[in-house]
Amino acid sequence: MVKETPKTAKAPRTADMWAVQCDKCFKWRTVPSQEEYEEIRSKFKQDPFLCSKKPNVSCDDPADIEYDSTRTWVMDKPNIPKTPTGFKKRMVMRKDFTKMDVYYTTPTGRILRSSTQAASFLDANPQFKGLSPSDFSFASPKIMEDTIPQNVVRKGLPGILD
Ligand SMILES: [Zn+2]
Repeated sequence: MVKETPKTAKAPRTADMWAVQCDKCFKWRTVPSQEEYEEIRSKFKQDPFLCSKKPNVSCDDPADIEYDSTRTWVMDKPNIPKTPTGFKKRMVMRKDFTKMDVYYTTPTGRILRSSTQAASFLDANPQFKGLSPSDFSFASPKIMEDTIPQNVVRKGLPGILD
């Protein structure tokens, strides 16, 4: 499936690297931008990603990146709508790594944190009438437990500290 990889070694608690898995050889390929990643993800079911979609790359080439715990990996569901033009989508990891909070910034600078907020924003702003609440997805990606840094204190999850 399609995945995002926030690197958590330094400050950013948001994804700074994007990768997709080839449907044929299962190698991971990095994607240079969030926009390109979202484009692939938005139609992942109808149009699965293949190594050959990257310029000058084939399934015979070594993977760009390996799935391991040197980074924290989070996995998106396939077919999440592309962020509408002018909006910005951010996903921020909570300090205890229990969840990523998803929000959009609108072109007018508002922050939307739920479908309900998206719906009322669209109602109140007829200039975006081409959009519907289904153009926004607030689904949190799945955080891969085995890639969480060891020193993270997770509330309510005993036994993870050594
Ligand atoms: Zn491949």
